[in-house]
Amino acid sequence: MTARPGLLVVGNGMAAERFLDELVFVGGAERYEITVVGEEPTGAYNRIMLARVVGGAGPDEITTKPAGWYAVNGIRLVTRRWVQRLDLARGEAVIGDGETVGFDRCVLATGSSAWMPPVAGIRTAEGVRQAGVHLLRTMEDGLALRRETDPAGGRRRISVVGGGLLGLELARTFVDQGHRVTVLHVGDTLMQTQLDRLGGTVLRDAVAAMGIEVVFGQTEAVLARDRLEALRLDDGRVVPTDTAVFATGTRPRIETAAASGIEVARGILVDDRLTTSAPTVSAIGECAEHDGVTYGLVAPCFEQAGVLAAILGGSDPEARYRGSKVCAKLKVAGVDVASMGPIEAVEDTDEVVQVIEERRGVYRKLIIRDGRLLGAVVVGDGESTARLVQLFDSGERMPPNPVDVLCSPPAFARVGGPGSAELCNCNRVSEATVEEAIGAGSDTVEKLRASTRAGTGCGSCVSRLVEALERHGALSVV
Ligand SMILES: Cc1cc2nc3c(=O)[nH]c(=O)nc-3n(C[C@H](O)[C@H](O)[C@H](O)COP(=O)(O)OP(=O)(O)OC[C@H]3O[C@@H](n4cnc5c(N)ncnc54)[C@H](O)[C@@H]3O)c2cc1C
Repeated sequence: MTARPGLLVVGNGMAAERFLDELVFVGGAERYEITVVGEEPTGAYNRIMLARVVGGAGPDEITTKPAGWYAVNGIRLVTRRWVQRLDLARGEAVIGDGETVGFDRCVLATGSSAWMPPVAGIRTAEGVRQAGVHLLRTMEDGLALRRETDPAGGRRRISVVGGGLLGLELARTFVDQGHRVTVLHVGDTLMQTQLDRLGGTVLRDAVAAMGIEVVFGQTEAVLARDRLEALRLDDGRVVPTDTAVFATGTRPRIETAAASGIEVARGILVDDRLTTSAPTVSAIGECAEHDGVTYGLVAPCFEQAGVLAAILGGSDPEARYRGSKVCAKLKVAGVDVASMGPIEAVEDTDEVVQVIEERRGVYRKLIIRDGRLLGAVVVGDGESTARLVQLFDSGERMPPNPVDVLCSPPAFARVGGPGSAELCNCNRVSEATVEEAIGAGSDTVEKLRASTRAGTGCGSCVSRLVEALERHGALSVV
């Protein structure tokens, strides 16, 4: 019997996990001798759910691939090891302690790391992070935060630096635990890359109503003696703080690629086949840069994983990745937020429609060009978002009165046809697919997750899965 080619996957995060799933599905586990080397101690988990670990959930509750899954599928899993570099000429990866793993093909899925801004005093004289200062990217980070902020240890003053998606999600977790929470945000609009000023204001009001204080300003210094005592802003204001979490963005992890002589810019450069400058090496997920773009949401990572698995698994060798149309449809601290395309008019002729319901805390903004949806911002309205995503994705014409799209039930019934609206944005699952799965016997959320993948990303659509099950009178919806 001839030996199968060796396929090495570097990194075992969400992109790698999806790639392996898809590869196994198309028979890739028989085609290749697969080895996965991951720096973290366990099998893959849903990183998006880390705030739950901070809130007290056990690591098992967010694990998506226990060690047994790899064994059952004949995949060798190497944990707690870091691939330093690839020796492309020899087809070998150098891992942690000088050990090597041979490969014929390699997939880099090294993700991103959390970025910490250069704030004075953030490190001790010995160069270690000041006690009480945290990041949140890995399970280890989540468990460390949990230990420090366990409500059993009393009420803490927690500052979250960064009012983006992750920062607000964490702030909500901490406030629910009874802590006193301040979000420090540079600039004057929360989530300013996804929301315009008005949308940011509506979100800030919703967040304030939860008991989260929002302070706008640049964090300039960590004030500490033995441990963190306060954060200082650049205008001199001081925020007393027992625990600080920096949720200030991410940077693609390109160090392994760079050390291997593979071309990098912000991310690892890939073509439409997701191949890097080294013909035997591919890259997917947040570490990859395609057509000048790196992504920070999971949906594009999943799309790339699917394309690469089709190519390497042989189910569609001609598959190509053409970039992702990013629609961020998220639940931020319990508030529905969606953002797609530009958030302001780009050309003078672009039409802008804004609808604000102050008392309900609902805001929608549509940017329309030549009768089609170019961009949208939605805060506090989960229902019309699905229709907007559909219009944005398909490029279908808007109704003559664009506000009709925002009505419930929709006054514009033609959008994409019945059931075509996207229910799960992370996995691109339509309402119709979910309905079909229920009809075929998926009568619980867990079964729907398994049969359609809806709800396995950020989880914000799970309530809609429950609604769909209830509509069908499914007996068990848990
Ligand atoms: C708390 C949190 C909340 C989030 N919420 C959302 C959300 O609501 N919606 C959304 O779309 N996205 C969200 N994201 C982003 C989402 O998690 C990422 O888009 C996704 O995890 C990217 O997958 P990836 O595999 O590219 O990278 P990762 O999941 O980061 O995995 C990369 C893995 O590679 C390992 N690695 C790196 N280099 C090496 C090496 N040289 N050798 C071995 N192993 C290595 C890393 O340790 C890591 O385990 C969130 C992220 C966080 C942290």
